[in-house]
Amino acid sequence: MLLNNRVALVTGGSRGIGKAIALALAEQGASVAISYKSNDEAAAAVVEGIESYGGRGAAFRSDVAGFEEAAELVDAVAERFGGLDILVNNAGITRDTLLLRMKEEDWDGVLDTNLKGVFNCTRAAVKIMMRQRFGRIINIASVAGLSGIPGQANYAAAKAGIMGFTRVVAREFGSRGITVNSIAPGFIDTDMTSGLQDEYKQGILQRIPVGRFGVPEDIAAVAVFLAGPTSGYITGQTVVVDGGLTI
Ligand code: NAP
Repeated sequence: MLLNNRVALVTGGSRGIGKAIALALAEQGASVAISYKSNDEAAAAVVEGIESYGGRGAAFRSDVAGFEEAAELVDAVAERFGGLDILVNNAGITRDTLLLRMKEEDWDGVLDTNLKGVFNCTRAAVKIMMRQRFGRIINIASVAGLSGIPGQANYAAAKAGIMGFTRVVAREFGSRGITVNSIAPGFIDTDMTSGLQDEYKQGILQRIPVGRFGVPEDIAAVAVFLAGPTSGYITGQTVVVDGGLTI
């Protein structure tokens, strides 16, 4: 299997895209820890799923937005599984509203979780990966960071920030055997998008050349590739996985 003896941490791995990535990494033989913010039951079910592939799984309730908390999470995973090879910075939230209605807490909440969370976990993880002289960091951005979607000033700023962060960290750690890439999903069918109005969804669907919304497994397949042994010459990139929405 592609990821035998690898250890992975997927933040926000209890639902949606993170869950699909965690299971896909486990299917390829990795030991997989997930983190989540509040939903204990969902996280426990994902650990069962990970272990059903025969590998080791663990779930940690931990808020990525906390600097110390994120460092403790990364260290706890490395201690539990004896290292950390793959970090998937996936945890994210939305607080969509037009700019004039956007409150300070809407801005801070999204930036703290979606962008600072990536910094927090990456900073802790690279220390371990440098010692190992190997690491794969995969940041889940969004096409919202590439094109301007009204109502998402906070979210777009965070996701565009992730892509810039990715390029810098890729340069800083390339010589240490660590690659850093982003995935920019388009419209993926998860809890995050389930609340959107049908009319809005239909409008988006008409603009997707492949003619369907994405599923979490579409993103997981790319994450497995970027985590695996054949992608070592790819770093600093953003892979857009959107069915052609942004072409
Ligand atoms: P989701 O279904 O809402 O799941 C979000 C996950 O993140 C949950 O596991 C949640 O844990 C966790 N989480 C939220 N805040 C956290 C925090 N502060 N610390 C730790 N974990 C936290 O979302 P999704 O649609 O799978 O999205 C996953 C990622 O893909 C996000 O970064 C999102 O921005 C990005 N993305 C999604 C889409 C899309 O169309 N769905 C498109 C582009 C990009 P709890 O369950 O405990 O709350």
